[in-house]
Amino acid sequence: MSQALCTDILIVGGGIAGLWLNARLRRLGYATVLVESVALGGGQSVKSQGIIHGGTKYALSGALTGSSEAIADMPRRWREALAGSGELDLSGVRLLSEAHYLWSPGTLAGNLTGFFASKAMRGRVDQVKGAALPPALQDARFRGKVYRLAELVLDVPSLIARLAALAGDGLLAGACIEPLREGGELVGLSVDGRAIRARRVVLCAGAGNAGLLAALGIEQPQQLRPLHMVLVKAPTLRPLYAHCLGGGTKPRITVTTHPAADGQWVWYLGGDLAEADGVARDEAAQVRAAQRELGELLPWVDLSGAEWRTLRVDRAEPAQSGLVRPDNAFLAAQGALLVGWPTKLALAPDLADRVVASLERDGIRPGDRPALPALPRPSVSPAPWDSLFA
Ligand code: FAD
Repeated sequence: MSQALCTDILIVGGGIAGLWLNARLRRLGYATVLVESVALGGGQSVKSQGIIHGGTKYALSGALTGSSEAIADMPRRWREALAGSGELDLSGVRLLSEAHYLWSPGTLAGNLTGFFASKAMRGRVDQVKGAALPPALQDARFRGKVYRLAELVLDVPSLIARLAALAGDGLLAGACIEPLREGGELVGLSVDGRAIRARRVVLCAGAGNAGLLAALGIEQPQQLRPLHMVLVKAPTLRPLYAHCLGGGTKPRITVTTHPAADGQWVWYLGGDLAEADGVARDEAAQVRAAQRELGELLPWVDLSGAEWRTLRVDRAEPAQSGLVRPDNAFLAAQGALLVGWPTKLALAPDLADRVVASLERDGIRPGDRPALPALPRPSVSPAPWDSLFA
């Protein structure tokens, strides 16, 4: 039987939500243990596009409301953390792009009028031309308008690795997680037979939250929104980080560019292409749809030697009516148990704020931090732009 442990806060799930929260709590002096059942970052987090949204996508549809303005402050908070002067020290995390771009291939759609007028967007959108265009759009045949947004794009694998380093000795690989109760009250969890007592247990397990909540007998409905993403790798690709606008309120495609281990760039394609119609397509049809889109939008890019892959992944969130996207990070509490979904990688700081506020409200202050014994450590997940082309 493994040695029993005691900690202030026991976190389940080593995606961006759990790892960010863990690092933030440790910085505040809390003793923490984080349990991961597969690989750090390997749920949605390393499969994300790494955009630190400031709300642009939501302003586009007129949905950036007062209640969702938490997101407008996220680029600043992340920027400070990356500079080593913020709430966490993320110096060393690779910044892929200082800006994300909004690209309208034709004339501006009417709905952009409201977008530019929106309070949250004021002073944060600049049109760019000529040499200031993203490298992949610098071609004589390029037509359209491009706006630079104050949104960063991060290399998520290096972010996960940095947060794993900030977790120190507090990471634990564990697959079988069961409630630990005393007198009917939750006092911690049993992880692969090892009892871990904690003053609070925080579930940040993404899609895994549903199973954990069911095992705890707690009702908190979750929704899964599927995506069918496309990856294309070619020696001719140049960096592009942009939402390409179609006629509707959602980007037609969202392109981010990621470094493969062999030095080539991989374009990662999401947006409308990866939503419902894309989910319904099989892999070959989805690749053909992506080839059509890129052929129409970027005809000067030579994709004759490109390799194509697709990736299916679900976004996991608290249930909303009509499968709409939730506005903010979500946290619910019941006794010693908290459960959270950031709903966006960018909103991990917002989720951590909510947990810290809940601890403060309940008078849970940092206790002693006894050294932990050597624990089996979870591995860090490889990035899809490496594993899928291996
Ligand atoms: P996850 O990253 O899924 O992590 C959950 C972790 O819990 C996993 O490591 C899993 O193995 C572990 N786990 C599960 N069950 C258990 C268990 N029983 N015991 C122990 N551990 C368990 N957001 C943005 O802000 N910007 C973007 O550009 C962006 N792009 C995206 C692109 C795609 C294709 C997708 C799918 C999402 C994107 N998102 C983006 C959303 C973002 O990725 C997620 O909101 C965020 O990563 C969720 O983080 P998480 O830590 O809650 O979940």
